[in-house]
Amino acid sequence: MPRVMLLLCLLIALPAAALEPVTVQLKWTHQFQFAGYYMALHKGFYRQAGLDVTLLANGYNGHFVSPVEAVLNAEADYGISNSGLVRDYAEGKPLVALAATLQHSAVSWLVLERPDIQNLHDLVGKKLMTVFPLSESVELLAPFEAEGINLNQLHLVPTQFDLGPLLRGEVDAFDAYVTNEPFLLQQKGIPYRLIDPRTYGIDFYGDILFTSQREMMLHPERVRAFRQASLQGWRYAMDHVDETIAVILRHYTTDRTPEQLRFEANAMRRLMQPDLIDIGHMNPGRWQRIAELQLGESYADKLQLQNFLYSETEQQGRITGFLHLLIAVSLLAILLMLAVMWFYRLNRRLKTEIAARKLAESQLLNLSMTDPLTGLHNLRYLQQHLQETFEHFHRYRRPFSLLMMDIDFFKRINDEWGHAAGDEVLRQLGSRLQTHLRQCDVLARIGGEEFVLLLLECRQEEACRRAETLRMQICSEPFTITSKTTLTLTVSLGVTEVDLKDQEICDIMARADEALYRAKSLGRNRVECYRIHES
Ligand code: GH3
Ligand code: MG
Ligand code: MG
Repeated sequence: MPRVMLLLCLLIALPAAALEPVTVQLKWTHQFQFAGYYMALHKGFYRQAGLDVTLLANGYNGHFVSPVEAVLNAEADYGISNSGLVRDYAEGKPLVALAATLQHSAVSWLVLERPDIQNLHDLVGKKLMTVFPLSESVELLAPFEAEGINLNQLHLVPTQFDLGPLLRGEVDAFDAYVTNEPFLLQQKGIPYRLIDPRTYGIDFYGDILFTSQREMMLHPERVRAFRQASLQGWRYAMDHVDETIAVILRHYTTDRTPEQLRFEANAMRRLMQPDLIDIGHMNPGRWQRIAELQLGESYADKLQLQNFLYSETEQQGRITGFLHLLIAVSLLAILLMLAVMWFYRLNRRLKTEIAARKLAESQLLNLSMTDPLTGLHNLRYLQQHLQETFEHFHRYRRPFSLLMMDIDFFKRINDEWGHAAGDEVLRQLGSRLQTHLRQCDVLARIGGEEFVLLLLECRQEEACRRAETLRMQICSEPFTITSKTTLTLTVSLGVTEVDLKDQEICDIMARADEALYRAKSLGRNRVECYRIHES
């Protein structure tokens, strides 16, 4: 009997002993910001994944640990950071981004309501609190650069992570987390204003779960399991906010109220949009843009983001590749004596690498000609194709027309329904336009909400008829944003035809643009054709 008991004890103890210890360096003090990780722990998702997870809080007693440094120094296995992660990667730090929990960064300028500060331009010459070194504040400073404001025109001082200086009038603006400080001001009944970088086209991911290349290489299965369990925790937390708040209050924090945590949860929901976007989703095109804003376009173009962005299938491939390399190196040592065989193997490996590189190059070329949001061609592709068509026209006199389309009052859609809804409209409009294409037509998204159709073998009259059909179709059938939301939109179109007097493709583009401009100024939701004799 005692033997049976011993066996039973061993069987019960076995799974616990098999759990792998994992530490996570959080970005800040315990709060709803890390809800997914708490719930993965408390609902047993980590345990089911074979992990014994410890969450390390941050920022207590004025002591801040950089999650990036903690992971690189192997003081933690995983960390949470901001979009500055891609700059660290570019500087040679071996990091891998696993998931973006916030689709839009929570960082914003915060000012107290006052008549002289209404927008970003009003901050020129004012005293602004932000994180130093300034490379840490890229998402707050990039909007100034985007608006043509030199940073020398700003009076930047280091943040104290505390609203005191703003309330006392010692500074004019504060680097806030929209999930936190607005609540404190609302509680005190103090009116405030957020100046959001997104208004100025700066849209970064926030709260990125990441790890080191070392962890990725040595424990790929653990990375996969940890990431999946964490995202499961996030889905649970966002579906069970009350329960999550109770867990946080019971186990993690004493300095937050339930109302404060609820405010945070609501603000985070707006930044995550879990009903529209899979939690953790990362778009390589958006990362590329984020890298460009931080590093400059030419530098970012050279960056190999595929090593930085986690992808389950790719990681599997990379690990297998790594194992192959190990085997090849061991074989090489033995095969030194057998030179012929060694040469054969080396040759074979080189061939595989060349094939892989060629494949990667062609994928890259494809990517550089595609608009990541809609999957349509982009401006670069259109220019290239238009140039070829134009040369063909000069040789063979084959006519063609250009149709330029711009959504009317699109900014209102973003303002009213959110940026993600705007994105969804752009995607749906792209697909809808595609159903009206002939095989020889070329459709491209050339900018925010502007599309261009290149119609081969098509004179202006016919192009205007097709433009009118598109216009009618778009305004007559509503767009479905969510299962409950539909909206109607209109577009304006400018049409022109190639002319023998055209010197270069810019001449044709300029005419289509001018016709479009006229359609806008004559009231929108209409088609305007450029008559050549006007010029
Ligand atoms: P108009 O009728 O004069 O064209 O008005 P509009 O509001 O459509 O024009 P405006 O050029 O002022 O605004 C275009 C907006 O499109 C501004 C920008 O926030 C938004 N936008 C640009 N690119 C994207 C994108 O990729 N996704 C989303 N959701 N919005 C975008
Ligand atoms: Mg528009
Ligand atoms: Mg526009």
